[in-house]
Amino acid sequence: MTKILIRGAKVLGGEPQDVLIDGETIEAVGSDLSAEGAQVIEAEGQVLLPGLVDLHTHLREPGREDSETVLTGTKAAAKGGWTAVHAMANTFPVADTAGVVEQVWRLGRESGYCDVQPVGAVTVGLEGKQLAELGAMHESAAGVMVFSDDGKCVDDAVIMRRALEYVKAFDGVVAQHAQEPRLTEGAQMNEGVVSAELGLGGWPAVAEESIIARDVLLAEHVGSRVHICHLSTAGSVEIVRWAKSKGIDVTAEVTPHHLLLTDELVRSYNPVYKVNPPLRTEADVMALREALADGTIDIIATDHAPHPREDKDCEWAAAAMGMVGLETALSVVQHTMVDTGLLDWAGVAERMSANPAKIGRLNGHGRPVSAGEPANLTLVDPAYRGAVDPAGFASRSRNTPYEGRELPGRVTHTFLRGRATVVDGKLA
Ligand SMILES: [Zn+2]
Repeated sequence: MTKILIRGAKVLGGEPQDVLIDGETIEAVGSDLSAEGAQVIEAEGQVLLPGLVDLHTHLREPGREDSETVLTGTKAAAKGGWTAVHAMANTFPVADTAGVVEQVWRLGRESGYCDVQPVGAVTVGLEGKQLAELGAMHESAAGVMVFSDDGKCVDDAVIMRRALEYVKAFDGVVAQHAQEPRLTEGAQMNEGVVSAELGLGGWPAVAEESIIARDVLLAEHVGSRVHICHLSTAGSVEIVRWAKSKGIDVTAEVTPHHLLLTDELVRSYNPVYKVNPPLRTEADVMALREALADGTIDIIATDHAPHPREDKDCEWAAAAMGMVGLETALSVVQHTMVDTGLLDWAGVAERMSANPAKIGRLNGHGRPVSAGEPANLTLVDPAYRGAVDPAGFASRSRNTPYEGRELPGRVTHTFLRGRATVVDGKLA
């Protein structure tokens, strides 16, 4: 097996150290390690993190291979520093049976760039009416632990209760896309000053917050755990903070774009800014950053949502909702959280690797950077500055809101069980 010596990297942003990889495992972490028989990567000034874990990725296969495939999506993930992603269930067919989740899981293993852990649908066809075969998906080769109708809300309280009861038996989790459907009929953007001025249908914060409030109470009642996808409002933060203070087993995620972008951008009518949940206000952005820093929000998840050009390059009302995010997430997090002093790199590692792996009960990922652990690692050059160029994306889609924007940081190397999937910023 090949040995690789990463020399002089700041492990989790700390003092420079050497990290020796032997085969699939970290053999040693220390100073002045011998490079004998090893390929050396000079990493002075770079930060070494555990491989990132995304709890919320749309890989689109099966069914929408024109936007992304498991192969192109996992290539994009590797370039962004991810070593494991959870693939959302809103594919065609929907991942609501053991057969479909096993297909996605197998495609992930064949890709070799990044581990793919399928998310199972909560309800048949994401229709919100009948529980899907949660047990069969869990017991399949894919070993599904996370269930979500993401893209749609499990809005029926009885179905949500049953799902929470069901997954409790095997320590699974329901990840809720919190969107009260009646309150968001015809909604095109955040409800507020800007939507009123533009005359676009508003998406009120209460549509998200009312579902979160209900679901933390249901989780408490059932004694199960619940995860809230893509929190986007200051009020949602308050509810999660309250629930955690009561000892309710709730976890929450925020996307990179909700940490940076606001609904003011919708004034451009550029559909690249159309996303679900919608971009909110500056006050919401600041509350989300603070909540991520103080641990109220547990993780950053990309909600990577690739769309082909024809679904985005059209008028606002007709455009699909969503943004790609795998290849820019770490840069946005550095820009909004690290460079602002809100979070150190150890905090980033916790929120982008350890915590998501823990919520997904994912083995072999989110582990400490220490001897004996699987060599799932990400090397970042935080001093790098460059404009985002979607032409260089590995993703099949280009719908990024950051085109031309200068963002800090670049993933130089990614290692999946000791194999370099990215070398010097390029796919290996
Ligand atoms: Zn969603």
